[in-house]
Amino acid sequence: MTDDPEVLVVGAGIVGVSAALNLQRRGLQVTLADRQAPGDGASYGNAGILVPGGIVPVPVPGLLKKAPGMLLRGTGPLFLRWTYLPVLLPWLARYLRNGRDTQVRRIADALAPIIADSLEEHLALARGTPAEAHIREEPYLMAYRNRAAFEADGYGWAIRRDRGIGWREYEGDAVRDLEPALGPDYRFIAALEASHGMVDGPGDYVKALAGSFVAGGGRFEEAAFTGFELSGGTVAGVRFKDRVIRADKILIAAGAWSARVLRALGLSIPLESERGYHAELWSPAGGPVRPIMLSDRKIAVTPMTGRVRFAGLVEFAGLDAGPRRAPLRAIAAGAAAFPGMTWQRETEWLGHRPAPADSIPYIGAVPAHPNVYAAFGHHHVGLTGGARTGRLIADLIAGATPNFDMSPYRVKR
Ligand SMILES: Cc1cc2nc3c(=O)[nH]c(=O)nc-3n(C[C@H](O)[C@H](O)[C@H](O)COP(=O)(O)OP(=O)(O)OC[C@H]3O[C@@H](n4cnc5c(N)ncnc54)[C@H](O)[C@@H]3O)c2cc1C
Repeated sequence: MTDDPEVLVVGAGIVGVSAALNLQRRGLQVTLADRQAPGDGASYGNAGILVPGGIVPVPVPGLLKKAPGMLLRGTGPLFLRWTYLPVLLPWLARYLRNGRDTQVRRIADALAPIIADSLEEHLALARGTPAEAHIREEPYLMAYRNRAAFEADGYGWAIRRDRGIGWREYEGDAVRDLEPALGPDYRFIAALEASHGMVDGPGDYVKALAGSFVAGGGRFEEAAFTGFELSGGTVAGVRFKDRVIRADKILIAAGAWSARVLRALGLSIPLESERGYHAELWSPAGGPVRPIMLSDRKIAVTPMTGRVRFAGLVEFAGLDAGPRRAPLRAIAAGAAAFPGMTWQRETEWLGHRPAPADSIPYIGAVPAHPNVYAAFGHHHVGLTGGARTGRLIADLIAGATPNFDMSPYRVKR
């Protein structure tokens, strides 16, 4: 009998924590490791929305025409650090090629099963733990300036409709009845309803899940990954800055940093950081009561306990550059959508969405290393899909065959 766990999970975001809890519930001895506290990566600062309707990737037909204007304007919703372009280019070329109609449909078909029923998946994950209190059933209101703007977005809505995702439309006074705080600039709402919801404080939610993993006998180690420990060509464990942890099976769930981690095994995975920002307005009065997307600005606005969070935008500048003022200004400008809202103070945040070039998460065994597994790459919908992803990868690691076609998510593709 040793202290070595059967499974070591590297990365304690929503994906890693969900996997660790699911593995523990299958009776396995699990250690979860992260260089910081659980839930402090992308899983901390997202908009907190559970959005099974989020099956449409960022690159879609027509994006190439709009993107240069957005970049040159400098007010968003797309930002680029120009000095990063040479590094970005190979990934960007693949990413944009995946914006063709046939590819977008393939991506939507792959994302839909991972993020479907997300409210139920999260309720099942959190049931009986303090995390349960953070989950709320709510529609997700997609606000447009008018019907014409909604129709201009018709490509994405048709993709949803073709896959059985419905919505309810509100126009004129009905918009104000639904969300009285929304100013007169927005006169049309498409509300996504079935199985949609939100998490009040995603960082606290993940910490509460990790707390119940530890209360259930799991170990959490605060440790930074530095490499793999090999024994006769087989991965026998993970080297951290100040220790080695040996395990039979290893799951890499390090979000946007996962490609860096797997590079230590010689793998080259086309994964970038789609950087996003949030601003929180604390002690608000007269703000929105439900999660709402300002579609023209690409900012999601979520009322959370004690504050309203404005989160979104896409910036390409890599994992290492600090936050920049222009996107933060663009996020703050979103408050103008709620003309009567007041607040006491503001906080800001930058985070990294893990973005594969084909917008499809990696979930499965790593080529040539059958005891190493991957679960990352959920870009804009990682909170939504994190609960189910953790369950599926736990099945694979535990040797069960999920009743689910896992082929779209294989690591070698
Ligand atoms: C602005 C914004 C808004 C968003 N809104 C939503 C939303 O409303 N709904 C939704 O579903 N999704 C949303 N997302 C996406 C979602 O946040 C992510 O897809 C999700 O959090 C990814 O989870 P993860 O567990 O894969 O990664 P993370 O939460 O980033 O966790 C990865 C962990 O790996 C650890 N790690 C990395 N490198 C190392 C290392 N070397 N050693 C040890 N540990 C390491 C990190 O510390 C981190 O804790 C949003 C994202 C952003 C940025």
